[in-house]
Amino acid sequence: MTKHIFVTGGVCSSLGKGLNSASIGLLLESRGLKIRLQKIDPYVNVDPGTINPYEHGEVYVTDDGAETDLDLGHYTRFTNAMVDKDCNVTTGSVYQTVLQRERRGEFLGKTVQMIPHVTDEIKARIRKLDAPDVDVAITEIGGTVGDIEGLPFMEAIRQFGQECGPGNVLYVHLTLLVYLRAAQELKTKPTQHSVGTLRQIGIIPDILICRTEKPMAREHVEKVALFCNVPEECVLEELDAKPNIYQIPVMLREQKLDELICRRLGLETRQTDLKHWREMLDVLDNPDHAVEVAVVGKYISRQSAYESVYAALEHGGIANRSHVRVRRVESEEIEAKGAAECLDGVHGVLVPGGFGGRGIEGKIAAARYARERALPYFGICLGMHCGVIEFSRHTCGLEGANSTEANRDTPHPVISLLEEQRQVEDLGGTMRLGAQPCALEDGSLARRHYGQDVISERHRHRYEFNNAYRDRLAARGMRSTGIYREQDLVEIVEIEDHPWFVGVQFHPEFKSKPTAPHPLFAGFIEAALKHQHGGSEAR
Ligand code: GLN
Repeated sequence: MTKHIFVTGGVCSSLGKGLNSASIGLLLESRGLKIRLQKIDPYVNVDPGTINPYEHGEVYVTDDGAETDLDLGHYTRFTNAMVDKDCNVTTGSVYQTVLQRERRGEFLGKTVQMIPHVTDEIKARIRKLDAPDVDVAITEIGGTVGDIEGLPFMEAIRQFGQECGPGNVLYVHLTLLVYLRAAQELKTKPTQHSVGTLRQIGIIPDILICRTEKPMAREHVEKVALFCNVPEECVLEELDAKPNIYQIPVMLREQKLDELICRRLGLETRQTDLKHWREMLDVLDNPDHAVEVAVVGKYISRQSAYESVYAALEHGGIANRSHVRVRRVESEEIEAKGAAECLDGVHGVLVPGGFGGRGIEGKIAAARYARERALPYFGICLGMHCGVIEFSRHTCGLEGANSTEANRDTPHPVISLLEEQRQVEDLGGTMRLGAQPCALEDGSLARRHYGQDVISERHRHRYEFNNAYRDRLAARGMRSTGIYREQDLVEIVEIEDHPWFVGVQFHPEFKSKPTAPHPLFAGFIEAALKHQHGGSEAR
């Protein structure tokens, strides 16, 4: 029988519930348990696919084509748990199901109510993680205890615990101790209040993880335990993670969180084995080299907009025992000041995914700068489009070449919509989404890095390389080295006489892990290191 852990948050948002849930997952896996992770988002959107990245951050995509919360990216980086469409639940998706059932008359004339109909649907979504080979399912509830929109979910997990009985469900509450600088004191009152709010709903937390910028003293532990009604051993301290987030599982392990959880849930396991993880941390903390790469995008001021890209770059660094400094460049700044001023001194340029025409000329200029200087270039999705547009304009003489996304009337639509996308009216969930196979050309950089003939990568886009231009670009040296054979779509482009110019239509960043860096990110950082050392011999 699958046991369940619910992770809630109190006092304020952004305490790192996703990272803590992922860390718990890693610790349990390291004891040989099979886990799943799930994120509940109480907002009313059906999925985050239609939310602006400024507002929501990155949209993470699963193999089965779900557009999900970026916490699923943390789950993937920390654990081996399978992520799919069942791993992200929103208020919108729950209501959508309930309302569809209501329209079909499935409630047999009953008044459809928050309790039990909506809460039943929420519990059913949590139950979807149950499976004979899943020992523990960890469900993270987004938002903060006390939020109005979170209430149905809190009620549902309370009922869930009641139904499963003691010893089968555990509630972990992540909270903040507030440090008052003026008084030089660590305050526990906001935590007491947030646990109080949980108790009002009927949930008694089993374990409290206290985020704090100053170490807790004995008295703080005693106070939190007493006022929040938990044993002292269940009050854990989580100092701001330095130097990186991958330390969190180790910090929790040192306080025996995994033992505590296993004891509470009656799970017999082997000893924790974090050897592989610690080896990775060691490389991260003691790099032999350092390179600087630019990420040129439109949502640069918001870290989480490109969360998985930054993470994958770090992993590419780990693969090369190198620290990766990221210079974040706003593409419109390149439009204003020129690429040379913004990109001077970097050892590689990455242009990530994006939407719409704003800022695209800056990205195209970045691709040109990289191509002309034999600087490693990695274009992802829109970044690939920019590489193709740049090459068409400046190498193939196709003046005004563009994507029809940026200019519908371009004389040379080198990137355009497939017929099937032209018919689409709804915005939500209608892109080319999820994993598709891609065959790699012998002798290409991609083939060398992946070490495989056929790969599978995830997509999230509408626009495609226009096959009408394939031969003209190839004749000038931009080769299509990865193809989705079933529909003859170009998935990867490379420039022949450039040390490392790779554009990919898919999103490799979603599959990279610190303990298993993605081959293309590893290859990109390797090329950046070579560039730094004056060699342009990456091929
Ligand atoms: N906007 C482009 C498209 O829809 C690229 C999408 C992306 O970069 N994820 O095709």
